[in-house]
Amino acid sequence: MAAKQHDFEADTGKILDIVINSLYSEKEIFLRELISNASDALDKRRYMAATDQSLQSETGYAITIIADEKAKTLTISDNGVGMDDADMASALGTIARSGSKAFLEQIQAETSKDKKSKDAFSLIGQFGVGFYSAFMVADKIDVISRKAGDEKAWHWSSDGKSGYSLDKGERAEAGTDITLHLKKGEKDFLDETRIGYLVRKYSDHLGYAVNWQPPKLDAPRQLNTGSAIWTRPKKDISEEDYTQFYRQIGAVYDEPFMTLHNSTEGMLNYTSLLFVPTSRPFDLFNPDRKSRMSLYINRVFITDECEDIVPPWLRFIRGVIDTPDMDLNVSREMLQKNPSVQKIGKALIKRILGELKKKKEKDPEAYEAFWDQFGMVLKEGLYEHIESRDKILEICLFRSARSGTLISLADYVAAMPDTQDKIYTLSAENPEQAETSPHLEGFRARDIDVLLMTDPVDEFWMQAVTEFEGKSFASATRGISDLDKVAPKSDGEKAEEKPDEDARNQEFAGLIAKVKATLGEDIKDVRLSKTLTDSPVCLVADEEGMDIQMERLMKAHNKDFAGSPRILEINPDHKLIKGMASQIEANGDPALLDDAAKMLLDQAQILEGRPPASLTEFAKRMTRLMERGLSA
Ligand code: ADP
Ligand code: MG
Repeated sequence: MAAKQHDFEADTGKILDIVINSLYSEKEIFLRELISNASDALDKRRYMAATDQSLQSETGYAITIIADEKAKTLTISDNGVGMDDADMASALGTIARSGSKAFLEQIQAETSKDKKSKDAFSLIGQFGVGFYSAFMVADKIDVISRKAGDEKAWHWSSDGKSGYSLDKGERAEAGTDITLHLKKGEKDFLDETRIGYLVRKYSDHLGYAVNWQPPKLDAPRQLNTGSAIWTRPKKDISEEDYTQFYRQIGAVYDEPFMTLHNSTEGMLNYTSLLFVPTSRPFDLFNPDRKSRMSLYINRVFITDECEDIVPPWLRFIRGVIDTPDMDLNVSREMLQKNPSVQKIGKALIKRILGELKKKKEKDPEAYEAFWDQFGMVLKEGLYEHIESRDKILEICLFRSARSGTLISLADYVAAMPDTQDKIYTLSAENPEQAETSPHLEGFRARDIDVLLMTDPVDEFWMQAVTEFEGKSFASATRGISDLDKVAPKSDGEKAEEKPDEDARNQEFAGLIAKVKATLGEDIKDVRLSKTLTDSPVCLVADEEGMDIQMERLMKAHNKDFAGSPRILEINPDHKLIKGMASQIEANGDPALLDDAAKMLLDQAQILEGRPPASLTEFAKRMTRLMERGLSA
């Protein structure tokens, strides 16, 4: 019976073509990809064998590389979990099941920018087109595999162009042989020295031996060190070793920002090797918020999906935990509630936060770079993990409105004048909007600092966290009656000259009444501002009302959320406001005053980052006012 032919899925052909033809310079990485797949397969089999003795290999677990000079084939063989026909069709018939589209788009963007194909290369591992990278050096690949526990073996074969064939095969025990029929000009890959060099370069830290099987019946030679790096004494590991390992497990290409390697013995026994990346991994903002920590029990890989080890708000951490304290039989589901896992998890959180704090103190500049990449993730912990809240607050950085630099809450509190008892914050969509907000004027005039909150996550934790070291947080968009206690700076004499409040209210009573009448339901109240210096108007939230940014967030989540009307504050020292007041006195043109009042609200809204209620009305008003000013 002839082997059954199958077509590749739509994107597969396209991606293959790109992989094979555009990603030219580092063909050798195919070996890393195939060895890493073999190692995954060995992990899986060992894991299964831990609960089902019959699946155990009698000869140990290893990866073997066999070159056939005559046939010009290179075979990577493992006695791992293997695949049956259905596994082959789904695992090898589609490229990068989840990431294919993203991969395709990125690759196209990279190659069209004519960047070095090296950049595009780094994407191969990330998106899991791993297996297919072998078509860079092979014009035909045969896969013979037998799944652990099955009697039958299967044979998959493809030229990497249109499709593949699938047929029965022969294999003495469970595992997989991947045989590459090397392209012309790729004979190098049959050379033991070259293969040995590549294995050490990419796969030295693997937990398994990678062996070279010489022709005839010579004994196999081990090419890699084969010891899991975390089990070696720290003093024997170079920075370069750590970096290599980090890149291997994280499928990333940056340097680790911090490397934490520790062994703990006593109540809890475990070894941890943790890395804080320098830059964001590509999946950092995936909705699954999965952490990527691998858990091993005595060097047997258990899972990399264990939330209790590292919580979602530390999901940027990469690394391995190895512990002898757990039973291999433990199911992945049981792990979540396993007391040892939970204890290790707690200890790790403490350690990571402690080390970050040290880093912040010792090397503030480097820490700022870290914060820039991961601060917004870390802040999720402020509302998700109450136990760590204080420790996280200690290492948070915020942009100071006064200095424009990043400062900690402790820095902020230390710089507070005696008369100030709150930590003022201003939420905005971005730093530019925050810095130009009229809400800052009163604070600037009094030389009081405000922390600018421009990460979306800030709205969430600020609902949960009310104070730091006994000082409560207060939004600068609320009424700012507290500010009265602090005199504006270098404004001593002028402040004296200011007419008293009653007199001023009298003076502007006409204008206030007019604006109130014109704007009606759209605002809650109109009052004179005590804080504005440059802007004519701003909107403030009622003292009891919801913070303006919080309200915006609620609206984003719920279209029907109406929100509460704001108080419009007007600046009695502003030329425009004074002008409007005297027009009212003089019974000026009511149409003009109507437009002006409405424009005040429009303007205040725009400064909040919100469009005016009606853009057409706004444009018409604007035109009328400009006509007044400009027409001949
Ligand atoms: P990834 O490793 O990211 O899943 P690959 O393209 O490297 O992507 O491999 C695709 C899939 O093929 C693997 O997930 C695995 O299911 C299967 N596979 C590849 N090589 C082997 C192997 N040696 N043994 C068992 N399964 C394998
Ligand atoms: Mg792979």
